[in-house]
Amino acid sequence: MTSAVTDSLALLEALSALAGQADLEVAWPSQSWELLQRLGGGRWCIAHEFGGLGLAGVDLLDQYEHLASTCLTTAFILSQRDAACRRIRDYGSVQLCRQLLPSLAAGKHFATVGVSHLTTSRQHLGPTMVTRDQGDHFILDGLMPWVTGAAQADYVVTGGTLDDGRQILGVLPTRFDGVHVGPPLELMALAGSITAEIRCAKVKLPRQWLLAGPTERVLTQGRGGAGGLETSCLALGLARAAVEYLGTEAGTRPSLRANFQRLQQAANGVRQDLRRFADEGGPPEQHTALRARANALVLRATQAALAAAKGTGFLRQHPAQRWARQALFFLVWSCPAPAAEATLAYLHPPDDQECSH
Ligand SMILES: Cc1cc2nc3c(=O)[nH]c(=O)nc-3n(C[C@H](O)[C@H](O)[C@H](O)COP(=O)(O)OP(=O)(O)OC[C@H]3O[C@@H](n4cnc5c(N)ncnc54)[C@H](O)[C@@H]3O)c2cc1C
Repeated sequence: MTSAVTDSLALLEALSALAGQADLEVAWPSQSWELLQRLGGGRWCIAHEFGGLGLAGVDLLDQYEHLASTCLTTAFILSQRDAACRRIRDYGSVQLCRQLLPSLAAGKHFATVGVSHLTTSRQHLGPTMVTRDQGDHFILDGLMPWVTGAAQADYVVTGGTLDDGRQILGVLPTRFDGVHVGPPLELMALAGSITAEIRCAKVKLPRQWLLAGPTERVLTQGRGGAGGLETSCLALGLARAAVEYLGTEAGTRPSLRANFQRLQQAANGVRQDLRRFADEGGPPEQHTALRARANALVLRATQAALAAAKGTGFLRQHPAQRWARQALFFLVWSCPAPAAEATLAYLHPPDDQECSH
């Protein structure tokens, strides 16, 4: 093994040792984030020209899967940071990319997304972030209900809705007057993500920070909608941790073998399709169906691991209880209505007999 590989393995081991703490403590997991920077994670998705490693497609998904199987909290925070970077890259001017991406790649600054109010949150209510176009700037007034890493963020990719229903997407520096970060929300898992609300009180956003719009449903036009392959990949990564644990247990407990093999097969199927979609694209319905399979897989695998770990797995220090709690996150995170419906259909037993046995 080369020294770079042994270094990476040592860093991943250290990250794994901190995963319980990152999940439980309501505090920014600075040690885990630092280990990720040393692994190069801050540079994975950013193009070479901006100081990144330019990973994309299958190569990037492989890294996300491995990271999620090691520490889901760190992987989740990175996924939100990378979602912000991707939107800056895809929609931002060259000048904005040059201004922001190199320092994000170097880990000097942190960016996140606060876009759920445009996609999957509060859709049954009126716009939560009202926006006015003032020519050379926009006014943002309202609420982003969910922002991961909010208190740590220098920039939030966010948006709002104009009077006529059109929306904008932009980069909001959190230092701007009128930006108020709330306290971390009390979560059942992933506490270290310090997810919080951000309120904007008549915040003035100069036009140079605009990424897209004003347009109809700014995030469902083209790239950047909710529930992408990265979300399914993180579910697969968490499932992998549980399946690997089951495999180790099955080595000495033959009764677990059939269950382990079925779950391993299901994980391989999800991985194969993820890679195919990363290479070839594919229609949105197939991505949704894959998300539902990844959700069902992560719930089944983590609960099988907990059942195998028995009462000992229910103790706080055991990873099985953490995996089982974390798996529930995929029922609510970045889950647009078609993905939520497909997940429910997948979880529904084929007939009543399955429940009565
Ligand atoms: C830990 C965590 C971290 C997250 N991080 C981020 C992030 O960094 N960035 C980001 O953009 N998003 C983030 N999200 C948001 C996430 O992707 C979803 O948008 C969010 O989970 C949707 O949940 P909601 O309660 O806001 O949904 P809502 O649809 O707003 O539901 C709110 C409540 O209203 C009720 N309700 C829903 N629909 C109706 C209806 N039609 N009629 C009546 N009542 C209804 C529901 O029962 C629910 O209790 C995060 C979410 C979580 C849980």
